[in-house]
Amino acid sequence: MRFLTKVTIVVAATLFSTQLFALPKHDPVPGGVAVIPVPLSTSAAHFNSRPVMLLKQGGEQYAIVGISLKTNPGDYPLELIHDRTGPTDQRQSNLNVAVGTKEYRVQRLTIANKRKVNPYKEDMDRIIRERNEMNKAFKSFDKLAQPATAFELPTEGPISSPFGLKRILNDQPRNPHSGLDIAAPTGTDIRAPAAGRVTAVGNYFFNGNTVLLDHGQGLISMYCHMSKTKVAIGDVLASGDLIGKVGQTGRVTGPHLHWSVSLNNARVNPNLFITETP
Ligand code: ZN
Repeated sequence: MRFLTKVTIVVAATLFSTQLFALPKHDPVPGGVAVIPVPLSTSAAHFNSRPVMLLKQGGEQYAIVGISLKTNPGDYPLELIHDRTGPTDQRQSNLNVAVGTKEYRVQRLTIANKRKVNPYKEDMDRIIRERNEMNKAFKSFDKLAQPATAFELPTEGPISSPFGLKRILNDQPRNPHSGLDIAAPTGTDIRAPAAGRVTAVGNYFFNGNTVLLDHGQGLISMYCHMSKTKVAIGDVLASGDLIGKVGQTGRVTGPHLHWSVSLNNARVNPNLFITETP
């Protein structure tokens, strides 16, 4: 019996060599991102029951895992599903994500509008409805093959409040700061930091005039406290397109952009996605 020798020519993955995919920075801590190499056979991954982004770069594949601020340091499973290419292939396997410790500073703020710290009973229906609307957008997993993971800063100005601060508002403990604040005068342009689709636009109780962008594979960004929004749900934006203008709507101490970045429904440090300019 004769076998034909099959010569397999491995063709370089031109799809990935022609375009540079910037991976986010690996910072496996609460509020950070874990960049975990996974086998090329991996077709899906889950962390904390949420689908996880998979990126191919330089002939390798990586799971890009968002770690929520509420995560305790320790070991957590990353569940992988593999494409079946032969009868002995394993269909599922686990990798470990080791989450380290990170201490965030405490920030005390005084909010003049006390109702924004202790809402009235009649505000609660609105707050819950808006939270559900935002959560739905944050939980989206658009199976885009090529998500936009290299971000530019959405507006210009000093960082007035970094990501992750433990917050005490009017002497009362509140949720940690789940984004970063860029201070800028009212009316300053806010631009899309990367390509994305507008999935929510609202005037929310705490966040004021707000836009959410879906960048694909569970990577979502949010822009808050705007004086004006300039987009509508369904708009497809390129990097640099105008989203709205800086303002001080919602719960604020002054005009600024609050910018949140979320990955597999975990709010993470936006700085990890900012591309370094050489
Ligand atoms: Zn903020």
